[in-house]
Amino acid sequence: MRRAKHDRELRCSAAVQDDSYAMRHLIPALLALLPLPASAAPVLLLPDRVFDGEMMHPGWQVLVDGSRIVAVGANLAAPADARRITLAGQTLMPGMIEGHSHLLLHPYNEVPWDDQVLKQSEAYRVARAVTHARATLMAGFTTVRDLGTEGAGTADVGLKRAINDGIIPGPRMIIATRAIVAPGSYAPKNDAHPVPQGAEEADGPNLVSAVRRQIGAGADVVKLYGDYRWRPGEGSRPTFSQAEIAAAVAAAHDAGRQVAVHASTAEAMRRASLAGVDVIEHGSEGDAATFALMAKNRTALCPTLAAGDAIARYRGWNGQEPAPADVQQDRATFQLALKAGVPICMGGDVGVYTHGTNAREMLLMAQAGMPNGAVLTAATAGNARHFGLADRGRVAPGLLADLVAVPGDPLADLSAVTRVQFVMKGGDVVKSAR
Ligand SMILES: [Zn+2]
Repeated sequence: MRRAKHDRELRCSAAVQDDSYAMRHLIPALLALLPLPASAAPVLLLPDRVFDGEMMHPGWQVLVDGSRIVAVGANLAAPADARRITLAGQTLMPGMIEGHSHLLLHPYNEVPWDDQVLKQSEAYRVARAVTHARATLMAGFTTVRDLGTEGAGTADVGLKRAINDGIIPGPRMIIATRAIVAPGSYAPKNDAHPVPQGAEEADGPNLVSAVRRQIGAGADVVKLYGDYRWRPGEGSRPTFSQAEIAAAVAAAHDAGRQVAVHASTAEAMRRASLAGVDVIEHGSEGDAATFALMAKNRTALCPTLAAGDAIARYRGWNGQEPAPADVQQDRATFQLALKAGVPICMGGDVGVYTHGTNAREMLLMAQAGMPNGAVLTAATAGNARHFGLADRGRVAPGLLADLVAVPGDPLADLSAVTRVQFVMKGGDVVKSAR
């Protein structure tokens, strides 16, 4: 479908422009921007080694046909017409999955969050998001779980559709639309008169209605803010009651959608885990008892270390140790969660910092003590499992051909994931060093 459409567009251009300047210069430039269509012939990928989402396999090869992986292993018997792509010195691995993004936001040191929500038009925010989506894909992240437009309505629905239709390059999107907050709890704050909020306000029986409306509008995942600071300068406090979260989770799960809950305080995390939510975001004030509960209930944690790190830098931290207290607390609670056996997602809250630098979270997870292999799994097979995405996250026959290659061996040097050389999405080569 997509291939036919591109062919038709190019034929139209050729007919109109004929032997003009455009034929010689603009069309090749346009072709360079578009994903190369999956070739009719199968593709045999020949890296030095394959990380399958769990383990490293030296000498493995991967055969792709159409949009799917069809074979993996050493010395594959590829069809005679297979196109061979040699990835010398590189490791092929699953396309990475960003667990917590906001494609409709850009770094807060460029424009404060309040001003993005209140002063930027939706058209402007979407135009930026188009460039964010491309940067994310080129960085090797072929899926994002995008957790709320933060005041940009349901713009993520259209962004996702434009990517799926092949109009713009970008990752596969799992979207939350507007997200839901308890009335009065969120931001921006304004004492003079009411101002638009960064998420939809609902509580009591209206909370369940909001969950259902957002799912009907396109939400793949329901995002609740389980705690927040009621006034600037305060610490966070729980917002939704235990019964409210439980009702929201029941409505979302009935619709086959997961629930993600923003929660920093131990009490909001405890309520969320007891209510059966799928993933808790941030968790920076979690204690041993909370993490033990999450491990028992198999509630995943998305630690967003990179967001705290970025905000500390915006406040003047130069990255030297000792780190500011907030950064140290994030590390310490992450270590507590690891020790308790909590399922760990890889998601950094990218948007707080620059899109395309998603791997910052992976490096911080490793720096805080998670082994490199576990970090790689969290960003691939782990996130796929925690988000219920059975068709991706591993290099295995039958799965989507979302694949990336990095130089060297990322188990030995994790920073390789910041230097992605090759990206394939659904069998289309969208980035290649050659
Ligand atoms: Zn977020």
